[in-house]
Amino acid sequence: MKQLTHPLAVPRQLQRRQQQAVDDPRTAWQRFRGKAEIYDALLPAQRHLCAYCEVELDNREEALGYHIEHIESKSGNPLLTFEFHNLMLSCFKTGNEAEQSNEDLNPVSCGHSELKRNNQYDASLFIKPTEQDCQRYFFYELDGRVVPHPDLNETEAARADHTIEVLNLNCLRLQRDRGDMIREGLEIISDLADDDCALKCFLHLELNEIATNKLFAFHTTRCQFFQDLA
Ligand SMILES: [Zn+2]
Repeated sequence: MKQLTHPLAVPRQLQRRQQQAVDDPRTAWQRFRGKAEIYDALLPAQRHLCAYCEVELDNREEALGYHIEHIESKSGNPLLTFEFHNLMLSCFKTGNEAEQSNEDLNPVSCGHSELKRNNQYDASLFIKPTEQDCQRYFFYELDGRVVPHPDLNETEAARADHTIEVLNLNCLRLQRDRGDMIREGLEIISDLADDDCALKCFLHLELNEIATNKLFAFHTTRCQFFQDLA
């Protein structure tokens, strides 16, 4: 989870909507016509990554969709329905039916995960991507699993554990994709060990923008494994 800082400028239609009352947040949100502006503002702010799991949102090969996620749900906190800082982009569902039926009984992560979608979580423990230095809570194992960072105290570790569970950040798909990325990266680094220039070039590409405002998937995982080598 990479810290999300919202752009200073609140999208105009959202600003206008904030001045009106919200009686029924679900219907009000469905009827709201300013969503395109929100996507346009948040995609570059999130460096085109899901704010929870850091998959590339507009990578067609991933076959994942994405949606505007209310960090605090519309039903739980209707007053935040049109609050910019409560909105972010999250991936949703896997596009792979075979994966859903055979391999992983619980393949949905992030904003549409069962626990998050149904508000079955403890907001006082849940770590939001808008929280300062939220990335410090998480540590990635070589096999791609995410766990609480070993430097955390007991209370902080409980928060990390809860957030990982609520967002299902260790579903097989995410674990496998992170593990593959780590393994492949470490293999390349080992192959380039004698070529300092090529190694530096590889690490630069791994950790920096691949296009304007765009980063590779699992950026904070890449940082954990590769940054000290750069
Ligand atoms: Zn995600």
